[in-house]
Amino acid sequence: MATYEFDLFVIGAGSGGVRAARMAAQTGARVAVAEAGALGGTCVNVGCIPKKLYSYAAHFAESFEQSKGYGWQTAHEPSLDWQALKANRFAEITRLNSVYDRLLNQAGAKLIRGWAQPLDAHTVVVKTATGPLQFTAQNILIATGGKAFKPSFEGSELAITSDDMFDLDPFPKRLVVVGGGYIACEFASIFNGLGSEVTQLYRGEQVLRDFDEDVRSFIAAEVRKAGVDLRVQTDVTRIVKTTDGLKLTLTDGTTLQADVVLYATGRIPNTQGLGLAEIGVAQKSSGAVIVNETYQSSVPSIYAVGDVTARVQLTPVALGEAMVVVDHLFGDAKRQMGYDYIPTAVFTHPNIGTVGYSEHDARAKFGDVRIFKTDFKPLVHTLSGSTERCMMKLVVDAASDRVVGLHMAGPEAGEIVQGFAVAMRAGATKAIFDSTIGIHPTMAEEFVTMRQPVA
Ligand code: FAD
Ligand code: NDP
Repeated sequence: MATYEFDLFVIGAGSGGVRAARMAAQTGARVAVAEAGALGGTCVNVGCIPKKLYSYAAHFAESFEQSKGYGWQTAHEPSLDWQALKANRFAEITRLNSVYDRLLNQAGAKLIRGWAQPLDAHTVVVKTATGPLQFTAQNILIATGGKAFKPSFEGSELAITSDDMFDLDPFPKRLVVVGGGYIACEFASIFNGLGSEVTQLYRGEQVLRDFDEDVRSFIAAEVRKAGVDLRVQTDVTRIVKTTDGLKLTLTDGTTLQADVVLYATGRIPNTQGLGLAEIGVAQKSSGAVIVNETYQSSVPSIYAVGDVTARVQLTPVALGEAMVVVDHLFGDAKRQMGYDYIPTAVFTHPNIGTVGYSEHDARAKFGDVRIFKTDFKPLVHTLSGSTERCMMKLVVDAASDRVVGLHMAGPEAGEIVQGFAVAMRAGATKAIFDSTIGIHPTMAEEFVTMRQPVA
């Protein structure tokens, strides 16, 4: 039997890769992980964490304003020190990078700095600062994530992607965001809150395709109310540099001036240059690695998890998939990943939290559904002066009484929906929701007090 230097060689130390490397090493397996960039990958360095920190920063703007209704007075109008925010974010991300380093080290995984490529089913080459190094492994895990996709058109090189948003200098007074997905909606809200004049352009009829229709229209109205100039069925045909920043020509023939143009038009799997086709790893046309239920590719010793498989691009999903691989290779192989009822939040202002089926998808899957909806002014805003509202919706399968969709747009929706996601996965029925005692006074109690289905 062939002997290898490692039991598992992980390519990419992002969300999925670090989790797999750590957990595998903790079972006693000999593990190596190669990383070409900063430890922690997209989520830690240019995704979830810095994005959420900036979202907190943006929420303070509302809080200062709203505190006046509660009697707070300040001698001066608060203003944002963008350089301080960037520096504090950088310090926290640097701290997290070193935490990841320590976790890998403590687990006994060997970290190799450099760009890695599988040469065959059991060999990996890493281009390190001192030259290429070759390693052999029983199994290889591709956890190389994804990268931003930007369409190509006249002047598209003048637009940036979300990776570049965190260190902008100077702070963009006029920001144009193109796209209607998670990233576009979040950054439009965040920079609007931080003080930019934000225009968001989306090519379709309504932002956040695949989300529940009521959530989509509600959030569009809320972000417009908050100050985002959201224009739908609008796209950009060209961008040119002028003495007054960037000039965008839109599909309706009008023009727009901006200091920064963010393209948030999706992400593609990071497989370019890996030579996967040459070694027999089957991929989709997008480059995504095709895997089975244990994340094994068409080459049995090569696995892939996370964004590189382009299924559900969320950090907790990459972590869950990594755990399945580790359990499959070094545990009792019982762990499975369920893609039903994955909760998710969009950190717009206000947040969206959702789990399960949209009304549209539930009707297609279950046929007869009962819908419960509420839309109200949160108690906090009775004195805050804010006109922000909160909406909640339950989608119930009429045949089984199971709650199959739960949606919210309102303050802390992500925090609230996480708890309900447990009940949803456990198969809670509307009768169980109805018999649950609310916590008063909260917004979340509305989820257990909606009694009348909408007509
Ligand atoms: P990544 O975390 O991207 O890690 C891949 C790693 O592989 C990187 O470190 C990369 O440098 C390295 N690498 C690539 N190729 C090689 C190579 N050949 N050799 C060596 N190393 C290599 N998800 C959420 O759940 N919640 C959020 O709030 C959220 N916000 C987001 C905000 C933004 C702006 C973005 C862009 C994404 C966000 N996501 C969020 C998505 C989340 O970041 C990803 O789903 C998650 O990071 C995927 O993890 P991964 O391990 O597949 O890849
Ligand atoms: P999404 O796939 O969510 O959205 C892409 C958007 O860009 C869509 O509105 C799409 O329009 C539009 N688009 C695509 N191509 C073009 C084009 N050529 N011209 C104009 N518009 C275009 O991708 P994101 O980049 O927003 O985010 C990537 C993934 O990262 C998300 O799907 C999510 O999984 C993850 N993420 C998660 C977050 C969270 O959990 N809070 C936050 C940020 C990211 P159309 O709808 O018409 O196709």
